[in-house]
Amino acid sequence: MSASSHCARPGCGGSAAASLTYDYASRTVWLDHPGDGPEGGWGMCAAHAETLTVPVGWALTDRRRPIIPLRPQIAV
Ligand SMILES: [Zn+2]
Repeated sequence: MSASSHCARPGCGGSAAASLTYDYASRTVWLDHPGDGPEGGWGMCAAHAETLTVPVGWALTDRRRPIIPLRPQIAV
């Protein structure tokens, strides 16, 4: 029920900065803010989330990145 609050990497135990989930069917790995992602995600500390690699043929989507609105182009 509760999201993992600690890094799932063996021997790490750092506090989770991201939640990792994956889908075999679409070969996609997602990183979400802990608590934002789907239930059952694996906790990842900041260091392990940044260095995460996915198998060949898989896509990694980091959904933690904030959406930065583009500045409107204003002609002066
Ligand atoms: Zn870690």
